[in-house]
This record gives sequence, structure tokens and C-alpha cells, in this order.
Amino acid sequence: MATRRKPAVTEPAKCPVCKGSGEVSRTVHVGRKGRVAGEQTGLCLNCLGSGEAPST
Ligand SMILES: [Zn+2]
Repeated sequence: MATRRKPAVTEPAKCPVCKGSGEVSRTVHVGRKGRVAGEQTGLCLNCLGSGEAPST
């Protein structure tokens, strides 16, 4: 019997912006001087939170 090869699993390319997490940390600025208040995570706009690089 011939040995069957498993079909190659094509992993979706990870989004380079969020590195597959679907979230990106952004710096929060406050006040007119734009003082850095901290960081918060937000939806990655590159992959829209899916963590996969858009194929287009
Ligand atoms: Zn992303």
C-alpha cells in the first residue's frame, strides 16, 4: 500500500501589525500638550481583529 501524504496545511499568514493577536497597543495622549497617559489595546485595523494578514 502506498503511503499517503498528508495534505500540506497552509497556515494563514499572520498579520504583521499585531503579529496574529488581532490587537494592537496604542498610546493614549491627554490634554493639549498630548501628555502620554498610558497605553491601551485596540482592534488591529490592518486585519480587523482577525490576526490574519489580509490577502488582498
Ligand atoms: Zn492585525
